[in-house]
Amino acid sequence: MVEKTKYYSDFEAKKLICEIGKRVYNKNFVAANDGNISVKVGPNTIWTTPTGVSKGFMTPDMMVKMDLSGKILAGKLKPSSEVKMHLRVYKENPEVNAVVHAHPPVATSYAIAGISLEKPISPEAVVLLGRVPVAKYATPGTEEVPDSIAPYCKDHNAVLLANHGALTWGRDIIEAYYRMESLEHYALMSMYSTNIINKANELSCSQVSDLIEIRTKMGIHSGGVPPCEEQPNQTDTSKEQLIEEVVRKVTAEILKKLK
Ligand SMILES: [Zn+2]
Repeated sequence: MVEKTKYYSDFEAKKLICEIGKRVYNKNFVAANDGNISVKVGPNTIWTTPTGVSKGFMTPDMMVKMDLSGKILAGKLKPSSEVKMHLRVYKENPEVNAVVHAHPPVATSYAIAGISLEKPISPEAVVLLGRVPVAKYATPGTEEVPDSIAPYCKDHNAVLLANHGALTWGRDIIEAYYRMESLEHYALMSMYSTNIINKANELSCSQVSDLIEIRTKMGIHSGGVPPCEEQPNQTDTSKEQLIEEVVRKVTAEILKKLK
């Protein structure tokens, strides 16, 4: 039996967007009027944040209702031009029910540097967030922006937007928002360990595969597998030592015969 998707009601969606907007603003994930949030309320309809308003000071009456083609269905304000990214995520991945866009400073610095966040340094990041690629730079407000993120919408949970910010999505608004929190936290740990402490012990392939198993059991099938390295085991070392010993003995034998 196919499970029917349960959508938020209009009332719940507008209230939740305001609540998450406050968190995004208070966590310093956006400055001034930056960022946008959207929530699906039907297979073809969403509520989203208006343009030109701080995400920390929104009220439910400011929200805009749209269909997935971009047609405005309700609301007195205009949606952000960046809503095109949200619409594209919903079109590419029907399992997504909420999208959050922000400019969290550390993750955005990685986006500015063009460095993807994918090193397996934290179990939580592997399980809840997965690999975070960098989508190529696109001029804000143009169709290039949704096109740049389209390849990542199905297999990932988050993407960095080159020289711009970050985009996360999820099966509900809390999951989408938590992924934004996890992303900034992961970026911060990555920066401290790589650039300040200058040492990061990465998880091995077997540790990573254990985490992927946990993630699958949690019903999460996206996020990709972080690149990992097999840790050399005892058997390989002793094999190498044995070969070295044989070569040494044979060389000594040959040299003795040559004398
Ligand atoms: Zn932005």
